[in-house]
Amino acid sequence: MSLLTILEYPDPRLRTRAEPVTVFDDALGRQIDDMFETMYAAPGIGLAATQVDYHRQLIVIDTSETKDDRRVFINPLILERSGTAVTEEGCLSVPGVFDEVQRASNVRVRARDRHGIEFEQDLEGILAVCLQHEMDHLEGKLFVDYLSDLKRERIRKKLDKDRKARATSNPLPATPVRVPAL
Ligand code: ZN
Repeated sequence: MSLLTILEYPDPRLRTRAEPVTVFDDALGRQIDDMFETMYAAPGIGLAATQVDYHRQLIVIDTSETKDDRRVFINPLILERSGTAVTEEGCLSVPGVFDEVQRASNVRVRARDRHGIEFEQDLEGILAVCLQHEMDHLEGKLFVDYLSDLKRERIRKKLDKDRKARATSNPLPATPVRVPAL
């Protein structure tokens, strides 16, 4: 297995719309394993293929504390949404930035597993929010798109500054910087 590079906002490749997976072979299995390894190492609770520059409809999620609840969603389709949840979201492609996004609190999803077997599942809470966040990635959408233009511009500048700091090998601040409400 190997760690994959996670694209960071505003990388234009994050705007790519993913194509459906049509071949369920060993190469796909390796991609899934690499994505889990990359997600756990980040660390994160969800990763969409788009974020690692692989433009197929593939998502991996593990929201458990014990890191033993691996979930794979291939060619996912949301069949039903209900309720609303406002969650402070973060994203491995927008490091150190957290903000509130409103989404459905419950979803019913149809997807395929790593072997191509179709399944349907009802998800709620953080799992439902995470799935919707990752499905946005497959459409080329980021959670910062839900924020105001002014906020997004501040985030872009902050990430630019962070990247420059990293380039001169200054460590990133240990605590995530909250974006002030605007
Ligand atoms: Zn994300």
